[in-house]
Amino acid sequence: MIGVRVTVLGTGAALATGDRVQTGLLVDMGGSTLLVDCGSGVLHRLAGIGRDPTEIDAVLLSHTHLDHVSDLPGLAKARWMIDGSTTPIIGPPGTAADVAPLFELDGQSDRIDVSCFEIGAEPRDRREIDVPGTEGIDVSVVPTVHSRPGVGYRFEDRFGFSGDTEASANLLGFFDGVDVLVHDCARPPGGEPDNHPTPEALAEALERAAPDIERLYLTHLYPDAAARADEAREVVAEATDATVHVAADTDIVVSERDQTN
Ligand SMILES: [Zn+2]
Repeated sequence: MIGVRVTVLGTGAALATGDRVQTGLLVDMGGSTLLVDCGSGVLHRLAGIGRDPTEIDAVLLSHTHLDHVSDLPGLAKARWMIDGSTTPIIGPPGTAADVAPLFELDGQSDRIDVSCFEIGAEPRDRREIDVPGTEGIDVSVVPTVHSRPGVGYRFEDRFGFSGDTEASANLLGFFDGVDVLVHDCARPPGGEPDNHPTPEALAEALERAAPDIERLYLTHLYPDAAARADEAREVVAEATDATVHVAADTDIVVSERDQTN
């Protein structure tokens, strides 16, 4: 079995809270290191766990909203200052055009290497993608249901990340069977799903489409959702056999030790 460790670097959203930076996850898998999303604060969280931008084989983007990309220029500059190397960035169609302006301010355009993978617009389109340095590891994507085109990522049967998305039976079916899923739960209990799920909507879709997930972590918490995170966890836990947690910054959600369990 391929060794995996996943560290959630940031669990917040576009509105700031004092203890949650914006979205970012570090995936160490089979000798490769991938950063999934790079919102504000992620560069500092990376340093806080003793990791270095030059260790990252590729940055995978779920979509290009600012809370998922705003630390990209800082990451690329830090890497260039350390050893002069470029930062490979991979994302869904449109990523190259969307992120290019971020790098103009500091003359950094030659410090990044952006490539995009194709994926259809239909929710049922799923595909494997090629990620440099991850030969032998299956990384696949599925379209999200959000206000901007995006994808969720699945790494073998070990780990999934929803990106920003409404609760979707198709998306959760794509993740069914993974050991650990980190899923958007941005809205508070009793709220209105609006490009992001409430706990109730997530619970309903989980019950329908993903009965076989071992552990679920709720993330992307806006301040009103973060204030009621325990309630949200209880709502979701009612609907699934998975162990449900509220993710916190720097949580290790998949560890090498999990492989022997
Ligand atoms: Zn977001």
